[in-house]
Amino acid sequence: MADSGNQTDRVLRDRKGRIARKLRVSVTDRCNFACLFCMPEKEKISWIAQEQILDFDEIEKIVRVLTSLGIEKVRITGGEPLLRRDLEDLVQRIVSIRGIRSVDMTTNGWHLERKALSLRGAGLRGVTVSLHSLRSDRFAKISGMDALPRVLRGIEKALDAGLNPVKINSVAIRGYNDDEILDLIEYARERRISIRFIEFMPLDGLGMWNYDRVVPGKEIIDAVSRKYPLEARGRGASETSSLWRFKDGRGDLGLITPMSEPFCDDCDRVRLTADGKLLSCLFDTEYHDLRHIVRNGGTENELADSILKAVWKKPDGVGYMPWIKEGWAKPRNMNAIGG
Ligand code: SAM
Repeated sequence: MADSGNQTDRVLRDRKGRIARKLRVSVTDRCNFACLFCMPEKEKISWIAQEQILDFDEIEKIVRVLTSLGIEKVRITGGEPLLRRDLEDLVQRIVSIRGIRSVDMTTNGWHLERKALSLRGAGLRGVTVSLHSLRSDRFAKISGMDALPRVLRGIEKALDAGLNPVKINSVAIRGYNDDEILDLIEYARERRISIRFIEFMPLDGLGMWNYDRVVPGKEIIDAVSRKYPLEARGRGASETSSLWRFKDGRGDLGLITPMSEPFCDDCDRVRLTADGKLLSCLFDTEYHDLRHIVRNGGTENELADSILKAVWKKPDGVGYMPWIKEGWAKPRNMNAIGG
């Protein structure tokens, strides 16, 4: 096949043969938290202008085209997705697209107590809540918001509402919360919730990332298995986390190891940013603008052509980080990409 993305079979295949089936849709770059591994300092934040943010019709149109090209699973994210008013409406629209098998969400949990039931009613399948500490003062320091009790209530509400799966994401950072890994695991096990530890990636706004702050997945497994016998379940095809089952049957543990053991070779994800850029890789530096096509009366075919070309050029993955390797300006922080 020519190196052009002129594919005849109309699937989201890149030049390495990887095929995208999952989509992360960021609905806003705004967040009411300020996690130190994500956002810049308050005075340095410049939010995307409101008129550049896609409305629900525009998001639906793009998701519809992406689905016609093979996307099956959608995760709604941000910024903080639940800051977007009437999000249930968008959930319902995406759930109704033929070919979509599931719609899940990643959230900081702040609005979950109030929203879990209506989101479930709209057809949301599951929710992943970010929880990086169980100590109030530390939670506030890491997340930039004194909100631990409210987030914990949100998790209970999500379970009560029947969202399934309810998962926890925890970014482990050396010197900040790496001494809490067993406590977080115990919290999750008590509720039969899956917990995933994510290695800190160089996508933070403060510029505090360095390799010393990354807690490698292997280190977590070594520490956890001294207390809880674990059984390795491996990483399913195109999954981000390698799974470990607690041998006593009380839940499982996932490790997302982009830094120590990247899993980019079978990546099946693409991202749509809140301002309508298609990102074929979390570490991509090229942002493919779909908003101008949608806003200038482009047809679904034109959208599909642009998307196919963008996906074709997907970088190899986490190894492609010119802002680390060659000192380039980092294109965006995590909140404006959509984690
Ligand atoms: N506001 C929501 C939340 O807090 O979950 C959704 C957006 S947030 C960007 C999505 C996920 O990305 C969260 O689980 C967060 O912890 C993770 N994340 C953000 N910055 C990260 C970084 N530099 N390295 C690793 N994970 C990061």
